[in-house]
Amino acid sequence: MTIYLVHHSHTDVGYTHPPIAIRQSPSCRAKARLNFWFKADAPPYKRHRRCHQQECRQAQKFLGGGDPMMLTAFYLLGFFHGFAEPVPSPVPRPASPVLIYIAPMSHLDIDFTAPPSQVAEKMRRTIAQAIAFADADPNFVWTVETFWQLERWLETNPPEPQRQRLLQLLRSGRFELGAAYANPHSNAMSAFLLDWLFRLPRQWAGEHQIPMTTAILNDVPGHPIDLPHFLACHGIRYLVIGANLRFSPPLPPQIASTPFWWESPTGERVLTWIADRSYTEAFHELGVDPDSARLFNPQKFGDLDPMQVMERGIAETLRRYRERRYPYDAILALHAFDNWDATAASKLPRFVQMWNERHHAPRLVLATPRAFFEHIERRYRNQLPVYRGGFDGQWESFVRPAIPTAMRRARFAEQVVQTRQPIDLDLIRRLLVFYEHSFGMGPPWANQMSREEAIRHNREQWQLLQTLPMPVSANASEKLGAPEPPPNFADGELRSGALYWLPYHPMLLAPKENDLRPLRPPAWVGWRRETSPDGRERFCYWVDRKKLHADPVCVVWIWALDAKSATAKIRNRKATGWETLPNDRLAGSDWGGWFSPFGFRLGESEFIGDGIWAFRRVQLQGRWWLMGVCLTQQLCAIFKSGEQGTLTFDEAYPGEEAIVALWIDLRQ
Ligand SMILES: [Zn+2]
Repeated sequence: MTIYLVHHSHTDVGYTHPPIAIRQSPSCRAKARLNFWFKADAPPYKRHRRCHQQECRQAQKFLGGGDPMMLTAFYLLGFFHGFAEPVPSPVPRPASPVLIYIAPMSHLDIDFTAPPSQVAEKMRRTIAQAIAFADADPNFVWTVETFWQLERWLETNPPEPQRQRLLQLLRSGRFELGAAYANPHSNAMSAFLLDWLFRLPRQWAGEHQIPMTTAILNDVPGHPIDLPHFLACHGIRYLVIGANLRFSPPLPPQIASTPFWWESPTGERVLTWIADRSYTEAFHELGVDPDSARLFNPQKFGDLDPMQVMERGIAETLRRYRERRYPYDAILALHAFDNWDATAASKLPRFVQMWNERHHAPRLVLATPRAFFEHIERRYRNQLPVYRGGFDGQWESFVRPAIPTAMRRARFAEQVVQTRQPIDLDLIRRLLVFYEHSFGMGPPWANQMSREEAIRHNREQWQLLQTLPMPVSANASEKLGAPEPPPNFADGELRSGALYWLPYHPMLLAPKENDLRPLRPPAWVGWRRETSPDGRERFCYWVDRKKLHADPVCVVWIWALDAKSATAKIRNRKATGWETLPNDRLAGSDWGGWFSPFGFRLGESEFIGDGIWAFRRVQLQGRWWLMGVCLTQQLCAIFKSGEQGTLTFDEAYPGEEAIVALWIDLRQ
C-alpha cells in the first residue's frame, strides 16, 4: 500500500516554549488552593503569547490579583521559560512509513457496566491476566489506564514475585501506569481534588521508582481550562483523552486526533492527544484487532477476513488523515473498552506482526501511549501548535443534577478533608470515586444490568456516600425558611424565576419553546425569595422528586435577560481562577452551555447556584433567557435481558431527598 501524506507548514498558532515540567512541590498545591479564592476583577487572558513577560502578565490576569509572592513565582516561571524558547520551524514532510501506535488498555467505569464491587473484582483479575500474558508473550504490552485499577489489585496482597514482576514491567516500559486516579467529571472538582487526582498515583509511582509521564482520561469528552496546571504540577508531560463524542458536537480539527501543547492559563504545558474517535478507535475504526472489530462494528467489518478487516480500517483511517492534511508521521489509536479484560489485547502481537509482514507501510507499533508521545516530542517538539482553553462540563451537566443531595454531601466533605491532619487519604480516594464519570445513580444504561444489579449498583454508591462526613444539620433546606406556594401560570406563559420541565436535556439540544411546560404542584412544592443585608437575593425552590414522572425529565429554571446580558461574555469561576466564555473555549470548542459549580458573572449580575449548576442562554418568545438545569431524573429502564421496567425513586436514587431544595443566589 502506498501512502501519500500531504505536507503543509503550520501557521495557525504561535509556537513556542517547551513544556514546563514542574516537579511536585508544596508550592503547587498551595498555589492551586490560593488561586481558588482570588477575585474576578481582571480582564480575560488571551490565548497566545510571545514572550515570558506577557505570559506573566496573563498569569496575573487569570489569577485576578496582585499577590506579590505569586507574581514573583510567575515571573520566575517566565524567566526560566524564556531561556529555553525554541526557534519555530516548519513541520518537516512526514517520513515514510507512517507509524500507527496501538495502545491497549481497559477503560475503567467504576459503575456503569456492573456494581462497583464487581468492577473491582474484574480489574483485579485483569491486572493478573495482563502479567500472565506478558510472561507468555514478549511482545505483549499493556497500559493500566487509571491508578484505581492497580489499587484494587494491590489491596489483594498479591504474591511478592508477582508484585515484583509488575514493577519490573512498569519500569521497563512494556507496561505503563496512567497518572490519573480515575476518569473524573473534572469540571465539578475543586482545586484540592484535581491536585489529588494526580498526586495519589504520582506518590505511589515515586515510591516504587516507576516512570510516570502520561495521564489517560477516557470517555468524558471535556476537561477544564486549568487541567494542564495540575498535570504539570506533578511532572506529567503527556495527556491522552479518548473522548466519547456520542452526545457532543465534533471537536475543532485543530485539536482532534492531532498532537498539540495544551497550555494552562498560568503557562504550564502538556503534550496532548484527544482521540475524537474515542478509546475504541483501534478496533472499531482501524480494524485492529480484527476479532474485536467484527464484533463491535459488524456493519463495517462483518464479512471480511482478518487481513481484509485491517486493510479496510487502516486505509479508511489514512484517507481521513490525508484529507485533513495531517503533517506528522505517526498517529495514536487506543484499544480499550469498558471494564474489559486483557484477552483482546493478547491477540494484538499476532495481528500486528501479521500486518507488518505483509505491508511495508504503514507500520503498526504495539506500544504504550508514552512511546507515541516520546516519538512525537522527539521529532516535532518545537513545531507543535499551542492552545489554551477548556472544553468541559458536558457530561457534568447531565449526571450531577440527578444527585443534588449527594453533591451537597460531597462538597461538604471536600471542605472537611482539606482541614484534616494528618491527611485523610481514604476520604480523598472516596471523593475521587464520587467524581468518577460513571457515578450518578438512576436507571442503568440500556441492556447493561439486570434489575437486581441496578439496585445493588445504586446502593453501593449510596454506601460510599454514607461514609462521607455529614454537616451537623443533615437537611440542607432547614435553614431556608418555609416555602410559599408556587405561582399559578398558564401553559405558554414565561415567567422569570419560575420552574419548567422538558422531556430532554436542554444543554446539548437547544430547547424548543413548545416543549417547555410549567412545573406545577405537587411536583413543584414551593418557593421562597429572600434578600440578604448585602443585597444578594436568594431564590429557593422545593421540588418533590417522587411526583415527577418516570420518563426522562429535566426541571429547569429560567431568568429573563436584558439586552446587555443577552450578549455579554460569561465570566465563569474555575478551580484556580476565572475563564471568559466563549473566548476561553479550547480552539473554539463550544457545546452551547457551561457548567458552573463555583458561580459565574453575566453582565452586571453574579449567579451562584446550589443544585443549579448547568446553564445556557436561550431565545424564547422573541427574547433572551438564562436557563439553568435544576434536576435530571429517570425511573424507567431497559434491563439486561431487554426487559423494560421502572425503578422506584428510592431504588434509583437511594439517599437522595425526595423533596429537595435547590437555590440560586443572585447579586446585581
Ligand atoms: Zn466510561
